[in-house]
Amino acid sequence: MEKSPVKLKYLSTALAAVLCVAAAGTGLAQNAAPPTPKVTSATPAPKLIVMVAVDQFSADLFAEYRGKFTGGLARLASGIVFPSGYQAHGATETCPGHSTILTGSHPGRAGIVANNYFDLSVAREDKRIYCAEDESVAGTASGGGKYAPSVAHLLVPTLGDLMKARDPKTQVVSVAGKDRAAIMMGGRQADELMWLAPTGLTSYRGTALSPTATQAGAVIAAAIAQPRPAMALPADCANHDIAIPVGDKGGSVGTGRMAREGGDFRRFMASPEADGAVLATAAALRQARKMGEGSGTDLLIVGLSATDYVGHGAGTEGSEMCLQMMGLDRELGDFFARLDATGIDYAVALTADHGGHDMPERNRQNAWPAAERVDPALDPDTLGKAVAEKLGLPQPLLYGDGPFGDMYLAKSLTPAQRKAALAEILVRLRAHPQIEAVVTADELAGRAMSKQAPDTWGLLDKLRASFHPGRSGDFIVVLTPRVTPIPESGLGYVATHGSVWDYDRRVPMLFWRKGLAGFEQPNAVMTVDIMPTLASVIGLPVDAGKIDGRCLDLLSGPENSCR
Ligand SMILES: [Zn+2]
Repeated sequence: MEKSPVKLKYLSTALAAVLCVAAAGTGLAQNAAPPTPKVTSATPAPKLIVMVAVDQFSADLFAEYRGKFTGGLARLASGIVFPSGYQAHGATETCPGHSTILTGSHPGRAGIVANNYFDLSVAREDKRIYCAEDESVAGTASGGGKYAPSVAHLLVPTLGDLMKARDPKTQVVSVAGKDRAAIMMGGRQADELMWLAPTGLTSYRGTALSPTATQAGAVIAAAIAQPRPAMALPADCANHDIAIPVGDKGGSVGTGRMAREGGDFRRFMASPEADGAVLATAAALRQARKMGEGSGTDLLIVGLSATDYVGHGAGTEGSEMCLQMMGLDRELGDFFARLDATGIDYAVALTADHGGHDMPERNRQNAWPAAERVDPALDPDTLGKAVAEKLGLPQPLLYGDGPFGDMYLAKSLTPAQRKAALAEILVRLRAHPQIEAVVTADELAGRAMSKQAPDTWGLLDKLRASFHPGRSGDFIVVLTPRVTPIPESGLGYVATHGSVWDYDRRVPMLFWRKGLAGFEQPNAVMTVDIMPTLASVIGLPVDAGKIDGRCLDLLSGPENSCR
């Protein structure tokens, strides 16, 4: 067991044992000795594509920690690096972000306009629609674990769907910390699709996990049940170790060590332990299914969610995020080492679903005194009530998932009431110092997607890219930069993302394959470019008129990987 290339530092010895067993005996490792020749345009397609999405892994975090990585992220940083990748659209949330990565489509085309949007015509009482649910299932609601997970809202095919259409023997497996990550990247045709849950792993209602996934899930559940001692803080993290008071009960963040009680699923998810569990499951499934060992190319999709939970719970610049970055790097390194041992020719792409922004209380300490939290009066319920009372209109008047983004006016209004309500709301919002802009659906509906580089986009370009006429709000609220849309910090939720600003849009885009010469391209590219780029690597034709991205040439020098 000590000889295993996988060092599962945080997982229980039971899971390590299961995965060591699963790692044994591919028969391929013994044949992996010859040196890999340089990848050229004549090199056959890789046997396995590994797509990794790290939730909330901003370009800023990548830049901050790049010099400190020694594991998997160091390897990827030695490959082809686009440090200014863009989740180009305005609604920089998890579901839209993941929907861009393997569809080549902006969220407006993919139909994934936000994590939650509203459909006031839906039959059920809860009009809020979770991006990855099927609201037509009886007895469901969008929150509280009462929804039926579903890919139904995704309007475009994923890379895996296109690979399966070309060759049904292609294997596609998607494993993530969050359901919406696994679903939006996995698409409709994945052979296996699952995510973490307090019970270990789970999938769609009524879909049984495979024996390997069941086994991994049981061991993950056992790991969750175990308490975890505090992690040691590396010397490199010492400068981050400053307590920031949170809430009014004497709590703080910034000096956490990721200790938890047995059974604390929330803290399990906010640690490298969760990412290690996803990676270990992905490796075990690859092994069990012999992915990368057939005649074609298989696709293994990995969604690593812990960085996002750490960012929301403790911000981006505390000891917690430093521990997470070091742990993520290590877990990815162990995962790649395990793939190396199989001898399979695999290619890796890594990006993020959106960036992130630190909590205002720490930003104010770190040379950004203007950082602030949103005014509670901007909450759509509060605003709608005030306007309805003033104009004598029925309530609820206004629906929104928070103080920014898509807002919907009640369907019961007469045209005249609607016009009056919208006018009053726009006047109030546009007079508020934390409001950058309010843009109506009419302003976006006739607008074309920008074809320019995403670092040059204006506000309307960004909002258009996440606008879908049937799903977006009647108007969209944009907060000014560095306003955190959480009115009060509380333990567990102090910082977030979702804005149109570049700290939430910019993400790294990294590509690596053994023998593929690395290069750095600092000009702006987009996450919608990843799908056509990978498709070209495996010789899969893509109709450029049906996507928003373009193929990125991964061969330095005069050769071109885009066919
Ligand atoms: Zn996210």
